Amino acid sequence: MKVVDHIKNANGKTLFSFEILPPLKGQDINSIYDAIDPLMEFKPPFIDVTYHREEFVYKAKDKGLLEKRTIRKRPGTVGICAALMNRYKVDAVPHIICGGFNQEETENALIDLNFLGIDNVLALRGDHIKSDGHFIPQPDGHAFATDLIKQIQQLNQGKYLDNDIVNPVPTNFCIGVAAYPEKHFEAPNLKTDLKYLKMKQDLGAEYVVTQMFFDNQKYFDFVNKCKEEGITIPIIPGLKPFTTIKQTTVLPSIFHIDLPEALSEALYKCKNNDQVREVGIEWGVQQSKELMKFGVPVLHYYSMGKSQSVREIASQLF
Ligand code: FAD
Repeated sequence: MKVVDHIKNANGKTLFSFEILPPLKGQDINSIYDAIDPLMEFKPPFIDVTYHREEFVYKAKDKGLLEKRTIRKRPGTVGICAALMNRYKVDAVPHIICGGFNQEETENALIDLNFLGIDNVLALRGDHIKSDGHFIPQPDGHAFATDLIKQIQQLNQGKYLDNDIVNPVPTNFCIGVAAYPEKHFEAPNLKTDLKYLKMKQDLGAEYVVTQMFFDNQKYFDFVNKCKEEGITIPIIPGLKPFTTIKQTTVLPSIFHIDLPEALSEALYKCKNNDQVREVGIEWGVQQSKELMKFGVPVLHYYSMGKSQSVREIASQLF
């Protein structure tokens, strides 16, 4: 079932969902099941599975030489989606990105998803390869999520890249997109960022999932600004419970977000990561309760493969 239909059927009740990462290459899928099993009692109608593009690594060779290799550390997004649907009878939402794909490869990936009975995708541009410094699309690939949405919508209308296909069967994907209450880091300002978010809606995106944030006021302000720009599709808040003290600097640097002073002060008082986890759970519960009261359609948790804190939060809410 489509994410938007799950939201409609909930009749205003807030749903629980979460995002998982495929395991590192060489790891067992059971590590994913171990993280998901404890969360299934909260009845998530859908689970997101991230997509990880290739990276460059340098292997030391003889005489100080380095060999550049291209690897994908976390392959398996599509396989995991199929496995989750089969094991838990839940809808899986694969993330699909522009980076590393040309249009033909994108079309073929969408055909695979369609054949598996997957009817949701989160359409994203993807981040740049670290050593590139900025996002470089594939030759004949997409530069922005807007272009990817256009291609998915074309396929939803039965328009494949090859015009000669006779009686082409349309797909029926529900398209979700990303948004950033604290602005996408490349956008010159929030207004410009929202202009493109509105474009995503106009092209056919049916719901939004936000970047993580720790200050609900940022989400409330963002939702209001979206309304002013005519963005009316559901805006699902993304939440991440703190689990390590290192995250106080890592999360702002990777995700371009601020931490409220009250949170950073509470975290810096912690003597170990067990205490950090406690603070993370307490903050997550308060944040979630306030968002539920505001009437958010879904609380979407970034579990990052570790479900203990998400479970503790969900057990107090769902
Ligand atoms: P876009 O919407 O293309 O926006 C990128 C930048 O370009 C923004 O500054 C925007 O304002 C601007 N822009 C947008 N459209 C246009 C246009 N038509 N013309 C000019 N400028 C434009 N990354 C992964 O690699 N894999 C994942 O699984 C993944 N999952 C994510 C899930 C969520 C909920 C979120 C919030 C992010 C996720 N990301 C993931 C990270 C995401 O790929 C990066 O944040 C990326 O830098 C931007 O992706 P986007 O889809 O928002 O890009």
